[in-house]
Amino acid sequence: MSGEISRQAFVRRALGGLAGTALLGSCRSVTPTAVSGPALPDWTALGGQLDGGLMLPSSSDYAAAKGVFNTRFSGSTPVAVVTVASLSDVQKAVAFAATNNIGISVRSGGHSYLGASALDGTLVLDLRRLPKPVDTGGDVVTLAPAADLDSVQTQLAARGRSIPSGSCPTVGVAGLTLGGGLGSDARLRGLTCDTLQSASLVLPSGDVVTASAQDHDDLFWALRGGGGGNIGVVTSLTFRTCPTTDRDVATLTFPMESASAVITGWHGWLSAAPRDIWGMVNITAGDGPGRCTVILATPPGTGASVAGQMLTTTGLSASSTRTQTLSRLEFVHYFEGGDAAKVPRAFVAGSDIIGEMSSAAADSIVAAMSAWPDSAGSATAVVESLSGAVSDVEPAGSAFPWRRQAASVQWYTEAAPDTANMWLAAAHQTLGSTSAGGYINYPEAGDPLSRYLGPNLQRFNAIRQKYDPNGLIRSGIGG
Ligand SMILES: Cc1cc2nc3c(=O)[nH]c(=O)nc-3n(C[C@H](O)[C@H](O)[C@H](O)COP(=O)(O)OP(=O)(O)OC[C@H]3O[C@@H](n4cnc5c(N)ncnc54)[C@H](O)[C@@H]3O)c2cc1C
Repeated sequence: MSGEISRQAFVRRALGGLAGTALLGSCRSVTPTAVSGPALPDWTALGGQLDGGLMLPSSSDYAAAKGVFNTRFSGSTPVAVVTVASLSDVQKAVAFAATNNIGISVRSGGHSYLGASALDGTLVLDLRRLPKPVDTGGDVVTLAPAADLDSVQTQLAARGRSIPSGSCPTVGVAGLTLGGGLGSDARLRGLTCDTLQSASLVLPSGDVVTASAQDHDDLFWALRGGGGGNIGVVTSLTFRTCPTTDRDVATLTFPMESASAVITGWHGWLSAAPRDIWGMVNITAGDGPGRCTVILATPPGTGASVAGQMLTTTGLSASSTRTQTLSRLEFVHYFEGGDAAKVPRAFVAGSDIIGEMSSAAADSIVAAMSAWPDSAGSATAVVESLSGAVSDVEPAGSAFPWRRQAASVQWYTEAAPDTANMWLAAAHQTLGSTSAGGYINYPEAGDPLSRYLGPNLQRFNAIRQKYDPNGLIRSGIGG
């Protein structure tokens, strides 16, 4: 025992604070008196080889370096953060982690719901300083993994192009794409991962490969919707881009009492509508009377008439309808939600995938929202259709499995975690068998990977085992 204590003291002296503490798990299995145990990680040597930087817990900039968007995870304790500045940095850091048996958290935009880009006890590879790849223009674009969605859409809009993406301005394109990528172009263009043409990555072996339909097609399959933090470190992504147009946005509000009818009516109508019409339903509870809102995106100049068609077809009546015509960039900014959306915050969120949007399914979404304790702040359910181009890919055609389901429901609140987690657990229970699983970009702590990959789990695991047999790259989601 006294030998172990002195060894702990030695490690702490050598590494300082948390890095020493995190490594003790492996030290404890070493015979206390052994002088030839596993070598301690030589951080000084690693730091000396890098083009970028290395932050240990004793560094004054460690806390900022490991910071993530969901501040619930501000107290995480990675053993160190490497800010890679070149491909060779990525290879060196991966080799170092493999040699020293330290798991890797890869960080692009840092928006993981689980804080999975700075997990406890891991080496964080922060990709934000990786140089931008050369953009050859035309109808493809090659992006750095940590490129944020606002910059990506701004860069592409300047040449009249876009890729389908999500709404948050500061989400990283790698994390978004690796989990799928659901947003307001989904009915027309599919998921973000559906327009991925190839991705380059550093494997745990240190090899650099490019995965595409022609080369390493198993990797390419897994990278499209299997979730980030698996298999390797993606260092660039090439997408097929699409032309843009102006869009109308129509916002219709409804009384809460009709929320269930709104969800089923909206969903049935939208599923049969042309693909250039997209929509979602937001239900908010807790700050005053509940709100039920439908937001539609339509071809320019058609917002009012399309909203009218929806009301006529469904027999619904809206309390108010507002439409506006937006340029591509205004449209992107509209869904981004302004500068406030860029500020990190503490939140609890999760998801369900609705197999069929029956009245029972819609009733249970509304019941879950009605169970929100009003005094706790506000909570939202966002229902997004999976119809249109999302279903063009076979469920087994990429790791993202939800190609034949009706909709994704995202549950979100910034209320106190205890209340929020209880509500989330109750929401899943209320949905029961109407839920087929969850969306891997909206993951919840403690869930098994099977909940997110459904029928694609076995193939995904086989590919992960082939390329990362020792589980070096960590996702924060159970096996
Ligand atoms: C405010 C907000 C709004 C959102 N809106 C949408 C939306 O509209 N649509 C949607 O589909 N999703 C949305 N998301 C979810 C978002 O897509 C996921 O959180 C996504 O994983 C974030 O990617 P990131 O790169 O920003 O995060 P990170 O935390 O950096 O990464 C997320 C995961 O991917 C891994 N990873 C990151 N980069 C790499 C890489 N280069 N190689 C290998 N693994 C990597 C990380 O290790 C981690 O496990 C939203 C999230 C937030 C917080």
